Amino acid sequence: MQNSFDIAVFQGDGIGPEIMAPTLSLLDHLAAGKYALNFVDAPAGAAHYARTGESLPAASMAVARAADAILLSAMGLPDVRYPDGTEISPQIDLRKALTLFAGVRPVTIRPGQPTPLALKDGQTVDFVLIRESTEGLFHTQGRGEVTQDEARETLLITRAISEPLFRFAFDLAKARKAAGRGPGKVTCVDKANVFRAFAFFREMFDAEAAKHPDIIADHAYVDATALWMVERPWAFDVMVTENMFGDILSDLGAGLMGGLGLAPSADIGADHAVFQPCHGSAPDIAGQGVANPMAMILSAAMMLEWLGGRHDMPDMVADGDRLRAAVEAVIAAGKVASRDLGGSAGTSEVADAVRAALT
Ligand code: NAD
Repeated sequence: MQNSFDIAVFQGDGIGPEIMAPTLSLLDHLAAGKYALNFVDAPAGAAHYARTGESLPAASMAVARAADAILLSAMGLPDVRYPDGTEISPQIDLRKALTLFAGVRPVTIRPGQPTPLALKDGQTVDFVLIRESTEGLFHTQGRGEVTQDEARETLLITRAISEPLFRFAFDLAKARKAAGRGPGKVTCVDKANVFRAFAFFREMFDAEAAKHPDIIADHAYVDATALWMVERPWAFDVMVTENMFGDILSDLGAGLMGGLGLAPSADIGADHAVFQPCHGSAPDIAGQGVANPMAMILSAAMMLEWLGGRHDMPDMVADGDRLRAAVEAVIAAGKVASRDLGGSAGTSEVADAVRAALT
């Protein structure tokens, strides 16, 4: 049985390397004696582009393709741009190159976690937003037509991507139900009342739903979903939506769970997966040692759960759970909090607290 895994590591820009270092150290600590994680550096990003003229070198792409999983911190710097004015974003290029169609964005609010919601005592929120991540309104990214008087971008929905996307959503709902984390429900979030493309999206969703009589399937329009995510987020279990809708709703989800510093993500395809925080490179706080590493650590926990599940390694899956539980314990205790959560702890202090909270 495979016991040693290559992890491609994109340190990225800004706060990227600052949050990656303690995360790798926690992963090493967890793995010790049970399995090996070989971290392979994959240089890429805005600073790399500024230095070399390449944003995602072929050698780094090869490291990503060959790896068992990919960890990425954050890439991009607002002042570093391609000649057409768009930003360097290899994290988006990776999604397309590796066909990572399922962008998994968990939204969890546990007791003690700061949230703008007025939750009742002990009330928790735990749902997962799945953002299709390779097509939708991002289809013409960097290729939109712009003339003096008009600009056009194209929204693309395909059967080839939508069918595995919906399959993934129903499988996740099933796994969550089995783990006692949800009622087993998938909500298709669309705009099928206005656009034919979304009626097509919904039709494929319904066809997949028919294969899973044990899972509740329902629909919601994206505008109403934004409202319900604020009014009654506890009613969601798994939501699945188009790329741009998911892009926007996932930041709303991050806002509900106390900010970007706590929001992890995974971009998963049939053969590869990238695990990265939802936030960007935070150039405004880079180099100060104050970035919150929790979203990066929670993304690494998702990696352990995915990799362990894929290779039938219950130890590794359990380590993912332990890591998530340790972050939640630090949040609940409220003693060590970074600046974005209203405290004054630095990156390493937060990471040390998570290590100490591992059970
Ligand atoms: P951002 O997420 O980097 O920062 C938004 C705000 O949140 C800032 O005030 C920042 O200080 C704060 N913040 C973000 N992460 C934090 C953390 N871990 N701890 C504490 N505070 C944190 O978004 P932005 O400023 O719009 O973008 C900065 C750069 O990052 C841009 O170049 C953008 O293109 C890029 N970006 C990359 C990704 C990615 O790699 N996936 C995602 C979004 C933005």
